[in-house]
Amino acid sequence: MDKAVQLNGLSRPELVAFVETLGEPAYRGRQLFGALQHRRLRSFDEITDLPKDLRARLNEIGTATTLKVESRYISDDGTRRYLMKTHDNLPVETVFIPEERRDTICFSSQSGCPLQCTFCLTAQLGLLRSLTAGEIVEQIQIALNDAYGTGIKPPRGTNLVAMGAGEPLLNLDELLKALRVMADPQGMHIVPNRVTVSTAGVVPRILELATISDRPHLAISLAAPSDDLRNELMPINKRWPIDELLSACKIFEKTLKPNDRLTFEYVMLDGVNDSDEQARQLANLLNRHNIKSKVNLIPHNPADPLPYRPSTDQTVERFKNILESKGIHTYVRRPRGRDIFAACGQLAARQVTLNSRNETLVGA
Ligand code: SF4
Repeated sequence: MDKAVQLNGLSRPELVAFVETLGEPAYRGRQLFGALQHRRLRSFDEITDLPKDLRARLNEIGTATTLKVESRYISDDGTRRYLMKTHDNLPVETVFIPEERRDTICFSSQSGCPLQCTFCLTAQLGLLRSLTAGEIVEQIQIALNDAYGTGIKPPRGTNLVAMGAGEPLLNLDELLKALRVMADPQGMHIVPNRVTVSTAGVVPRILELATISDRPHLAISLAAPSDDLRNELMPINKRWPIDELLSACKIFEKTLKPNDRLTFEYVMLDGVNDSDEQARQLANLLNRHNIKSKVNLIPHNPADPLPYRPSTDQTVERFKNILESKGIHTYVRRPRGRDIFAACGQLAARQVTLNSRNETLVGA
């Protein structure tokens, strides 16, 4: 398996070049790309419009899929959480969130995560490894096939958020490769404008992303208005403190399209970062850096054994009002899929108690 080429992670021109090395004409590469990326077929044997001997050859040297769905959980609110394994047996989690006007798929960029955010369960896994472009693309295909059936066009638009396990900017090359594959109009056609990448604040990669024109939206997980507290909650802050991070954000902001805004995410932890004073500090911080942005307040999702509780609804509302009174666009993110551990900060390869709507799948 290690030497097999993951064809799901190749762009259309790369697949064309790949089949040409096998002595096949270019159109076979385009056909293969359409079968994998547009029809979302999960094995070469299903691509019956390819000659049998080519399918056999592809089976010898490449893979159409590598992730195996081990469990699927369906929340009362319709959110679906998939627990998968890579070919080398590492956990990957993906969450499908249906909404009235669009679906959102929250995917993982790494198995585990090297960062040590104290409010996040994934941190406890440590970094197992970064995912390949093919493994990123596959997560989206698996979720769409499960929700709508193989190859069926989703009835609503699909938004992607790189907010599952891992720090996406520590796997930027594979992530951008996956996004290029998914943006292809002959494939899933999910363009970067429908993708948001969330970072804990890897400053050099934020600056690198700022130089790319066809890029996804960026969200910064802030979680604290001061270095002291952020050092505690997000140790990456010791490497790139708030002022350095926000200076990079300012550079990024200058490259935004006119109606675009940078997003700051602020997980709300009861009695830790949710006081009125901290709301004022946060507003002053963002105003001082003069960044065209919005703030998403995310009530913490309970995840034993983490020592935090979610802020109360009243506290979240008060925090929001203070930010807005100081001119900061503020939204509250409604938690989805908490009952199946699919919400932010809850992903850590956990099996949950099965009920009648949940099932364990092998090799889906
Ligand atoms: S919050 Fe994100 S960056 Fe921090 S440990 Fe969890 S997965 Fe990693």
